[in-house]
Amino acid sequence: MDVDGFATGLDRAALPAYVYDVSGLEEHVRGIVTALAGGPEVFYAAKANADAPVLRAVGRHVAGIEVASGGELAHVRRVLPHARVAFGGPGKTDHELRLAARLGVERVHVESPYELRRLADAAEAEDRDLDVLVRVNLAGERAGAALAMTGPFGMDPALIGECLPILAAAPRLRLCGVHAHLASGLDVPALIAQHREVLAWARPWLAQAGVARPEINLGGGMAVDYAAPEDRFDWPAYGKALSSLARPDETLRIEPGRAVTVYHGWYVTDVLDIKTAHDAAYAVLRGGTHHLRTPATKNHDHPFRALPGPRTPHAPYVHDRPVTLVGQLCTPKDVLARDIPLERLHVGDRVVFAMAGAYAWNISHHGFLMHPAPTFHYL
Ligand SMILES: *Cc1c(COP(=O)(O)O)cnc(C)c1O
Repeated sequence: MDVDGFATGLDRAALPAYVYDVSGLEEHVRGIVTALAGGPEVFYAAKANADAPVLRAVGRHVAGIEVASGGELAHVRRVLPHARVAFGGPGKTDHELRLAARLGVERVHVESPYELRRLADAAEAEDRDLDVLVRVNLAGERAGAALAMTGPFGMDPALIGECLPILAAAPRLRLCGVHAHLASGLDVPALIAQHREVLAWARPWLAQAGVARPEINLGGGMAVDYAAPEDRFDWPAYGKALSSLARPDETLRIEPGRAVTVYHGWYVTDVLDIKTAHDAAYAVLRGGTHHLRTPATKNHDHPFRALPGPRTPHAPYVHDRPVTLVGQLCTPKDVLARDIPLERLHVGDRVVFAMAGAYAWNISHHGFLMHPAPTFHYL
């Protein structure tokens, strides 16, 4: 898709805009699933981007969807009524657990012994059976991880043992296996090393728990490099390495989010003003981190390109110097990219931020300062 052509052609009144290449996304997801053929089941982590057109495109190719709240669960049920759904996430309320029973999720990922007790009650109250995976939190260094899921996620091996007597006394619950999601931002060797660690713990534990044909959900967290948008996670190498770990009597599952949808969304805006302050050059853009919070949360320079826009008299520009791209918010934290050397940038130029298809609009604080919302285009 010609994103730059579309961005240039957008009426100024439509800016800022989120633009999604839905057919490119489908092709990307098809490539992932093909690279893993015969290997793990792929569930898409909806929290990365749960926009309906995105979910429908991804949902056509993956085995299921992983949701992390009652809100996501209800939304996914509406958009993809027949999708297989796994429900995870810490701090599930009783209301959410009953919703899971009522809406018929395929797997619940249980985060604590107390949650498991409440899930048993919810299943009784709704008169439904539920299949569960218990989420394990293995301690240890997550070298190279962008985000280590240390802390309150899942249960450490000592705590997880408390689940077995609860399950034994809960006729409506069935233990199907183990869930693990230990870190995000891992390349193939780091992720495979982590999977080995999970499997080495999970297999004997599941055998001891008497789970026949167990399922092991290995989580998501496939690396995405914002500094090198062309360096993609090596799905074929991952598929090959993972198949060497697999055993015929068990089901492996993964639940990637960011690496699935990040590359097919763009945040498009334009330059409102340019000035220098204390020897630094700033370009003030329409919009900002209340629409695209990703660079603020990840503390990076968000990748972008500038396209020439209409020139107006007296409109300032900069050339051959580093420029900091900021938004319209009255806070020094509203920075999208810092000190980026640019040949030329002019007021009115279009700025197209790439890699805005995941954890972008949906993680941003939209209401701050009451600026207008972006427009949305699914191509
Ligand atoms: C967020 C999350 C994922 C997806 O992680 P990505 O880094 O987006 O691939 C998968 N599983 C769980 C439990 C999560 O919390």
